[in-house]
Amino acid sequence: MSQVIVVASGKGGTGKTTVSTSLALALVRKQNKVLLIDCDSGMRGTDMMLGITDRLVYDISDVISGACTFSDALYECSAARGLFTLAAPLSAEDEISPQVMKQFIEEHKDEYAYIIIDAPAGVGTGFEAAAKAADRALIVVNCEPTSVRGGINIRNKLSDMGITDVRLVINRFERARFLATALYEDLDEVIDTVGVGLIALIPEDVRITALSQRGALATNWAKSTVVFDSLVERLRGNNVPLTIEV
Ligand code: ADP
Ligand code: MG
Repeated sequence: MSQVIVVASGKGGTGKTTVSTSLALALVRKQNKVLLIDCDSGMRGTDMMLGITDRLVYDISDVISGACTFSDALYECSAARGLFTLAAPLSAEDEISPQVMKQFIEEHKDEYAYIIIDAPAGVGTGFEAAAKAADRALIVVNCEPTSVRGGINIRNKLSDMGITDVRLVINRFERARFLATALYEDLDEVIDTVGVGLIALIPEDVRITALSQRGALATNWAKSTVVFDSLVERLRGNNVPLTIEV
């Protein structure tokens, strides 16, 4: 049975694109066929993180307009065979409607073990398109009140949409910074405030910034892999420990 997982956050810059791309890579390394859909019209980033931008000719808007077929717009990542991507339109004006996205996903769901959807920030139409066909959701937050508030907004919207399998990813965690800012008593306070169970705690890691911004996440995957391997295990229901100490 294939699974559709949307990666969302209320606030921009929390790490949705990094998490969705890295999760897709971790799933492919475990021999799963994966479709990574970039739903962030005007702000797409998965192609850049995977280093495939130069190869892209078509995006979702071309499929919608009939300029190409769905399969013409799919790009397999040469550094990670089995990872297929569908790019968001370059222009924010080409927003994808929730109905169209749901139809695309339902038509192609059975061809993949996982479909990972990188959502735009916020709870607007773009988010609804990203989440409409999702079975599960990951909410990405950083340990700051503005980001946490965004997480609460997403949680409420997902609940309105009837998506109940929702887990929290705390990204860019730095223990020293967390203690020095004293914004929260402990991580449990962050988790309880969002009101969603934790599935991954991802450290602030300069290698993740460097690799993602150089388009080298796929080619240099080994350097940033462990936390995402553990996220995959937890998504499968295996109770592996969080890989960094809190
Ligand atoms: P979003 O898609 O939510 O807007 P991105 O995934 O584009 O966020 O990440 C924003 C920035 O943060 C990027 O420069 C990215 O490389 C960096 N980043 C994300 N997660 C981490 C991390 N765990 N450690 C270091 N840098 C990170
Ligand atoms: Mg993004």
